[in-house]
Formats: sequence, C-alpha cells, structure tokens
Amino acid sequence: MPAQIIDGKKLADQILSELKAEAASLPRPSGLAAVLIGDNPASQTYVRMKAKRCQELGFHSVVRHLPKDISQQDALAEIDALNSDETIDGILVQLPLPSHLDTQAIQSAIELNKDVDGFHPANLGRLFADTGPLFVPCTPLGCMHMIDSIGVDPKGLNAVVVGRGNLVGRPLSMLLLHRHATVTICHSRTKDLGAETRRADILVVATGKIDLVTGEMIKPGAVVIDVGINRTPDGKMVGDVNFDTAKEVAGYLSPVPGGVGPLTIAMLLRSTLAAAKGRLASPG
Ligand code: NDP
Repeated sequence: MPAQIIDGKKLADQILSELKAEAASLPRPSGLAAVLIGDNPASQTYVRMKAKRCQELGFHSVVRHLPKDISQQDALAEIDALNSDETIDGILVQLPLPSHLDTQAIQSAIELNKDVDGFHPANLGRLFADTGPLFVPCTPLGCMHMIDSIGVDPKGLNAVVVGRGNLVGRPLSMLLLHRHATVTICHSRTKDLGAETRRADILVVATGKIDLVTGEMIKPGAVVIDVGINRTPDGKMVGDVNFDTAKEVAGYLSPVPGGVGPLTIAMLLRSTLAAAKGRLASPG
C-alpha cells in the first residue's frame, strides 16, 4: 500500500490559525526581527516568507537587511539594538552568513529570551543536557510535530537521522533521544548508509543531496521525513528522498515542497509568540 503523505502545509495552517487567535488576545503585537546579511537569493526568499507570515498573523515584523561586507562589530551592534528594542520578542539571524563573519559569536550575542531560533550556544547546550532549553531549533521541532501528528510514539523505536548539521540533524537527534527513541546519526562517512536506514522505524533525512535515499533503503512501513531542499537543473524543488520509490515502501512520507518547510515557519512563529508571552509576563 502506498505511503500516507504527511501534509506539512495543512499541519502548519492549523498551527498558524491557532497562533493568530492567541496573538490577537495579547495587549501588543508579538515582534519578530530577521537579520539578513548579504544577497543570498534563498536567504532572501526565506526571510520574505517569514515576514509575510508575520503580517498575516498580525505580528510586528522587522527585517534588517545588512550589506554583505558588514564588519563583525557592526553586525553585533545591530543585534544589540534589537536586544534592547522593546517591540521585538524574537530575533533570527538568517544563515548562512558571509564567511568573514563569526556565526557563533553573532548567535551568542542574541539575548537568550529572544533566541527564538534556539541556536544560542546556551540554548543548544540545554537541549543536549536535557535541562529544558528556552527555545529549540524550528526545523527539528517541525519534524517532531509531524511524528506526533500521525500518532507515532518514538519511545523504543529505531530512529535514524541522516545528516549531522547544526541546524537539523544534531538537534533533532537530541529531541528523538529525549523521547526515548534509539537514535543512530549517519553522515557522509557512514560506511553502509542503506544498512542503517533499513533499520529505521523513523527515518529523517537532512543532507541536501538529491535522491540520497531511495525506496530500497527504507524499511517497509517506516515513517520517512524528508528535510532536504534541493533544486533540480530544471528548477524544480525536491528533497533528499526519492519520492516515487519511497512512497511505495514507507508507511508515512513527508513531501518536498509542502512538508517540513511550512512547519519550520509555523514553529518559528510559535516560539516568537511564546517569547512575547514570556516578556509580557516578566517585563524587563
Ligand atoms: P549541513 O550542510 O549542515 O549538513 C548536511 C549533512 O549531510 C552533513 O552532516 C553531511 O555529512 C551529511 N551528508 C552529506 N552527504 C552525505 C551522504 N552522501 N551520506 C550521508 N550524509 C551525508 O546541512 P543542513 O543540516 O543545514 O541542511 C540539510 C538540508 O536540509 C539542506 O537541504 C537544507 O536546505 C535543508 N533544510 C531545510 C529546512 C526546512 O525548513 N525544510 C531548514 C533547514 C535546512 P558530514 O557532516 O559528514 O559532512
């Protein structure tokens, strides 16, 4: 039987409509600032999409578009200004940054209670130590939401995460571990990727490699979440999993587009609303 397709857009729309109602009940708009440095077209698109969603939900949205040759000091000064801006509850720095900038130093400059992307080293450390981070990176949160939405409990299941990037693979592995899955993390030096993925009850692929995972590498009935975003030579957006062969084997499959992407933005706005509520509850 072909896989059930996990409709990320529908799941995201449900979350967004709940957020909209909740945001309207607050005494002021929740504020999200996006810091975009340079002219990376994909980054510009992502920031535009985030700002658009903010407006649809009645959030206050600010985009700081900074030149690609900005100095580290000036970039940090921008973060400082947003830290002390009372109308801003969440700050995201769109990655990747130009190579002359120190990404970690810039992420570390974000005030912890405005770190809605969850990449501040203190938030990441708390995620790894399972001591309750203030915020968790949004794409891994979106993947977990997908798993929950189909009623699958990761406890005791074999979860295989392909990709150990800081944005997705690493933090997601921790979330799965906290939910008591037996987690395997694969990467470019993994010797026999298919042997690992075929053991997965839950398989998440986040590598940026088109067709890295095909149907024959999937355990029948598995939950398969495709995080990858790639462009084919003719401009089509595809994931890391070969959709046509995977859907014949998997139990559940998330598509690209319309899978994890929309949920990532929904999770970002959910974290921003939580940040706003936190700041309203304890101002200053
Ligand atoms: P990174 O470049 O940080 O990580 C990629 C990972 O893939 C690395 O760990 C790398 O291994 C691994 N990898 C590369 N080739 C192979 C291979 N042949 N076999 C096994 N593993 C391999 O990428 P990100 O984590 O930032 O992003 C991954 C993908 O997810 C991208 O396509 C990105 O666009 C997408 N993405 C989607 C989002 C969404 O909202 N849907 C949000 C964020 C990212 P090694 O460490 O050994 O180099």
